[in-house]
Amino acid sequence: MHILLVEDDDRVAAALRPALHRHGMTTTRLERGRGAVDHLAGVDVVLLDLGLPDADGVDVCRAIRQASDVPVIVVTARGDVEDRIVGLHSGADDYVVKPYDVGELVARIHAVQRRRGPSEAEPADRVVTTDDGVAIDLGRHTVTVDGTEITLTRKEFQVLALLAAARGTVCTRTRIVAEVWGRSWPGANRTLDVHVATLRTKLGRPELVQTVRGVGYRLGG
Ligand code: CA
Repeated sequence: MHILLVEDDDRVAAALRPALHRHGMTTTRLERGRGAVDHLAGVDVVLLDLGLPDADGVDVCRAIRQASDVPVIVVTARGDVEDRIVGLHSGADDYVVKPYDVGELVARIHAVQRRRGPSEAEPADRVVTTDDGVAIDLGRHTVTVDGTEITLTRKEFQVLALLAAARGTVCTRTRIVAEVWGRSWPGANRTLDVHVATLRTKLGRPELVQTVRGVGYRLGG
């Protein structure tokens, strides 16, 4: 996944880029907002600081939105509620407040990209199959068990797809909730558990979605 980072603060960029790279992302950084629209080719998500030296970040956001459907996450200083509201009205997909937790930022990057659907650069035919006959088609958003298509709700599929894309590594509860629901709330864990229980029942494969106690879930099989 390729991230366009529009950020004038060298320290923020220097801290953020290696963190994003560790999560398998590549980055291009622009120190200024003007001309950002000329750098959207091949970009999957834009991280846009609203406080830029040469242009109003909100105007930059609008310009990006006019030029492209690329997801935009605006970054604002703590407490600038007004900024956030304006940012969302100017076509941003989400916002984060500085100082932010990198893990949460990464989850939001995945979430906005997921909501926009798979990018054209990504093969649409990514299918994860398990040893016990479950095939999860991440491009077509379908699941089959022994060749029979199973009807899942959108959220159920998103949970399953997230686990499938992780290829057997553990997805934390926090990450799943952040990516599938886009936010957390009291009771989010319970809701996640309910979705997992339904998934297990619908798939008829109780062992497929494995609980990693105290951490989250992983795909078995
Ligand atoms: Ca700034």
